[in-house]
Amino acid sequence: MPFELELPSKSFVVTGGNRGIGYAISRAIAQAGARVAVLYRSSADAPAVARALQDEFGVMVRAYQVDVADSARLEVVYNQVVRELGPIGGLVAAAGIAVSKPAVNMTRDDFLRIFQTNTWGPYNSAACLMRLWIRHNYHDGRIVIVSSIGGRRVSRGTSVSFYQASKAAASMLGRSLAQEWARYARINVLDPGYIATDMTSSMTADERRRVESTALLNRFGTPDEVANLALFLLSNQASYCVGTSYVCDGGIVLQ
Ligand code: NDP
Repeated sequence: MPFELELPSKSFVVTGGNRGIGYAISRAIAQAGARVAVLYRSSADAPAVARALQDEFGVMVRAYQVDVADSARLEVVYNQVVRELGPIGGLVAAAGIAVSKPAVNMTRDDFLRIFQTNTWGPYNSAACLMRLWIRHNYHDGRIVIVSSIGGRRVSRGTSVSFYQASKAAASMLGRSLAQEWARYARINVLDPGYIATDMTSSMTADERRRVESTALLNRFGTPDEVANLALFLLSNQASYCVGTSYVCDGGIVLQ
């Protein structure tokens, strides 16, 4: 790390924390010395991923299975995190799905699945935590909602309209919650560009070249590059950052 980012002495929750961008964020938090609750949907290796982080950095890291759309289960999980890792100081809502399908073939079920994960999911994850913080009169929370540049810019030649709409909604939701819950937490939105993860692994060579040519830096980003920004937003050093969307995209959105 180029300089130390000071985190509150609390535990942190990362949804989608077992893979891709979420994993890099879990790792960055553990590396910074804080306890991490890695939330995942169904990947069977998530507990092993958490144990490996725990062994590497010598801090408590546990995996918890939950669908971010499921409020009742999320509440159970948060209570378990508090019991096992101690009070929660922050959340990164990174769980998300991308569905590529021509808009003309989209169904109501597609709509519900995408919005339940990408829009309701971050709200649900934040609101469950906010209820805990309000109950415990905690006023130093930090929340980062991982949205996407897809929520602010249409990319030509793609069929991801519902994904883009769900991310636009998640971004506005994040900024709106930031003002409503400002007494309790600093909430910010993070908009990654194209990042090398499972989500982008099925892109064709042509699609990859097109993306790379639209980025000022002429390449995909790495999960660690997004994690650096997330860690900063969670840290005490970002004490005056609230209610804003931060882009990490190698210079795509300005094109
Ligand atoms: P991945 O596909 O690599 O990982 C997705 C993660 O989300 C997994 O941990 C998965 O858990 C979890 N997840 C998915 N649905 C649910 C659910 N319903 N409940 C709980 N967990 C769930 O994605 P990325 O790392 O690429 O993306 C992370 C975030 O960043 C997403 O919100 C994505 O939209 C956003 N983003 C990604 C970009 C990219 O180029 N990669 C660009 C811009 C934004 P499990 O492993 O158990 O399935």
